[in-house]
Amino acid sequence: MARLVQKFGGTSVADVDCIKNAALRVKAEVDAGHHVAVIVSAMAGVTNQMVDLVNQMGELPDAREYDSVVSSGEQVTAGLMALALQDLGLMARSWLGWQVPIRSDTQHAKARLMDIEVEEIGTRLDRGEIAVIAGFQGIGADNRITTLGRGGSDISAVAMAGALGAERCDIYTDVDGVYTTDPRIVPKAQKIDKITYEEMLEMASLGAKVLHTRSVELAMKMGVRLQVRSTFVPDDGTFVVSEDEIVEQQEVSGVTYSRDEAKITLLRVSDNPGVAANIFGPLADANVNVDMIVQNVSENGKTTDLTFTVTRTDLKNAVSVLEAHKGEIEYDNLTADDGVAKISVVGVGMRSHAGIAQKMFQALAEKGINIQVISTSEIKVSVLVDEEYTELAVRALHTVYGLDAD
Ligand code: ADP
Ligand code: ASP
Ligand code: MG
Repeated sequence: MARLVQKFGGTSVADVDCIKNAALRVKAEVDAGHHVAVIVSAMAGVTNQMVDLVNQMGELPDAREYDSVVSSGEQVTAGLMALALQDLGLMARSWLGWQVPIRSDTQHAKARLMDIEVEEIGTRLDRGEIAVIAGFQGIGADNRITTLGRGGSDISAVAMAGALGAERCDIYTDVDGVYTTDPRIVPKAQKIDKITYEEMLEMASLGAKVLHTRSVELAMKMGVRLQVRSTFVPDDGTFVVSEDEIVEQQEVSGVTYSRDEAKITLLRVSDNPGVAANIFGPLADANVNVDMIVQNVSENGKTTDLTFTVTRTDLKNAVSVLEAHKGEIEYDNLTADDGVAKISVVGVGMRSHAGIAQKMFQALAEKGINIQVISTSEIKVSVLVDEEYTELAVRALHTVYGLDAD
């Protein structure tokens, strides 16, 4: 009999009634003949409360204790879900990360999974017992609980599906699939039936939080079939598949936005070989990820201006690193702006359609939206704009690429 992984996000297990409803979705799969492993998130809002509590304890909490506190929400849901399943007459038990064990590295609060021992769970699944596994958490070589970063239970689900050789990994959430853009800001967004791993990966990393970026990366690597679907409506959701399963490609499949962006400009940087290394080396050493970069043509051959983006959370750190290295970098002035947003269009169709970027620039110009920085890859174009125009830009692009529902 085929194995299946079902993952329920926070809103799907928000209270006891929701958990009972989710349990019925599990029962339906068991009745259809599947051996099921269930991954649960914390009840909606609980992880945020835990993070708040930790923050009230001081500015720089010990990440190991942070993990111990914020992982607790999933323990509660796993137990409650096992009880709900038992109540439906099913065999079920809860598993915490360390009990499986789900091994990770020891980068607390942002740990990466390394290995999952599924032998015992596999044997029990084969006997018809449902495994209810706490998502988001693992155990490090230091023998302490780790967490995988916010939204990380998607990663737990995909990793478990890969390790169990599951036929599919279903991600149950509060929308009925992946949409052409965030349905919360564009009511005319449409559900996508099938999307490629590459597009989903770009969309997730560019702001579509419906799946965690690393979960898509892992699914692609391990060949896990993924479906995003609703906990509340029984219809099929969106299947994440390889490119050869998609017959006709749109020029653009989706539009995303991210407000977690900040822009730094260095004015009159000395224009010498090695200057970029002098700037980005210390930032990399400080664990600051730099995303979009533009360097202006030098007017006098001696100095140039350089603009780049980092996440808002990294801004303070990035500025202090650059100020500390002002001597080697040799710049006149530094400006920082966290009132920006990144808007992107994504689609594998860009490989075969010309003029996609131009259409984007034109549509933004018509709305009077100024583009501050541009970056492109094979299947995406991103622009940085004033944060104030986020929704206007997303809606305009959604329309211009023909994505609006009738
Ligand atoms: P969960 O708690 O189930 O993990 P998330 O909040 O992490 O749920 O993800 C679901 C949310 O993702 C939706 O409510 C939706 O607002 C948002 N979202 C952003 N972009 C998209 C998109 N392109 N398609 C679908 N949902 C999206
Ligand atoms: N509960 C965790 C969070 O809120 C993990 C998850 O829901 O995916 O980030
Ligand atoms: Mg999520």
